[in-house]
Amino acid sequence: MTTPPNAQQSWPSVRPVSVSPVAGRWHAAATSTGLVPTVHRPPTFAARTTLRDAMGLRDAMGLTDAQWRANVAFHEAGHAAVAIAAGIRVLRVEITPDGVEQAGRTFVESSAPVPWRDCAAVAAAGEQAVLRWLRETGLYTETRGWVVEILSASDRAVAEATTSLSVVTDDPTSPYDWRRMGAAAQQRLAALWPVVQDLAATLIAQGVVTYPQDGAR
Ligand SMILES: [Zn+2]
Repeated sequence: MTTPPNAQQSWPSVRPVSVSPVAGRWHAAATSTGLVPTVHRPPTFAARTTLRDAMGLRDAMGLTDAQWRANVAFHEAGHAAVAIAAGIRVLRVEITPDGVEQAGRTFVESSAPVPWRDCAAVAAAGEQAVLRWLRETGLYTETRGWVVEILSASDRAVAEATTSLSVVTDDPTSPYDWRRMGAAAQQRLAALWPVVQDLAATLIAQGVVTYPQDGAR
């Protein structure tokens, strides 16, 4: 049932993967790696074309280079802050300014099993941190929200691995539903937001944050 993060497990940011069949009010868009259900309505171009790579998604976001870097930084800072708050050791957080496939990573380590709810919250926190940042900066649009979801598809896979269940369900209130996991992550982020902002600012400035050998606590 519970798959704790292994040593050096990481949450890669932008490697879209296919997830389960669409159900309920989920939208769906075909990408180069499969059908990805989303809460946000896909832009019309998504229905016409198959997104070929992450660079296409970056273009679809329509952000400046600095805004794109901030987007990646907030994504990773969201993962890291929620992980640290949950008692998971964070070893290193990094972003790459021109990343296409891998725009950022958060490296964690845990010798003890991590409750699946914590795993799910950490996994969902990247996407949710970016959505909050987009709204707070006035950059939020439906299309950008959709891109953020697509870019976070691998995080869903992490959440699914923790429960061995699809996170795309008909019940948005189910604790196993990605939307509920997102709401739970938002709750945790609300309490941690100054920490997320500080970490994101450091990542934007330095590209990497490395914690002491025993990890951030
Ligand atoms: Zn992520």
